[in-house]
Amino acid sequence: MTSQLSDHVAELLAGPRPLPIVTAGHPVLRIPAARYDGQLGDALLADLLDAMRETMHAAPGVGLAAPQIGIGLQIAVAQDSAEIMPDIAEARDRRGLGYLVLINPSYAAVGTGRAAFYEGCLSVPGYQAVVDRPAAVSLTRLDASGAVLMQEFSGWSARIVQHETDHLGGTLYLDKALTRSLTDLANYQALWCGPSVEPARRILGF
Ligand code: ZN
Repeated sequence: MTSQLSDHVAELLAGPRPLPIVTAGHPVLRIPAARYDGQLGDALLADLLDAMRETMHAAPGVGLAAPQIGIGLQIAVAQDSAEIMPDIAEARDRRGLGYLVLINPSYAAVGTGRAAFYEGCLSVPGYQAVVDRPAAVSLTRLDASGAVLMQEFSGWSARIVQHETDHLGGTLYLDKALTRSLTDLANYQALWCGPSVEPARRILGF
């Protein structure tokens, strides 16, 4: 089993870059990923993380979970350069996130604050929907060296780490979305990409 998994990852990494991204409907996105317990070995894990980081940047995206490249392990990467309009960045409390490796992550809400914003996913291309999430979370994870880290995230960074951790449990953001907010990208860009979701809430009725 372990060697089959290593072989699968090695084969994937020998193929073209960026890695192909798996989209909704593929079972790997719905089956809870296995905890990472050294199955790949340090060198292959490092190569996988490099390829995931490259694939995330190329997409472009701010996070990528291993199931999104067809690997059912609890491994994800995230990074947000927050290169967006200042008013949008401020409304979303989007201050950027340095490169992060999430292995076997879990999160818990910090406080009772909530934040509702449009969110998308590389595995559900072409759409966005509003997800109401805890505004701040405490994230526990291993990093690439195997060190256990616990850290609090707030604002847009909290949204990113929740979204990626959810992937590893077989959850897509649509499972948590206010489905009446669903919009294709053309309508999102034309109508709903402002700082607040209130106009969409009023007019789409969610
Ligand atoms: Zn996603």
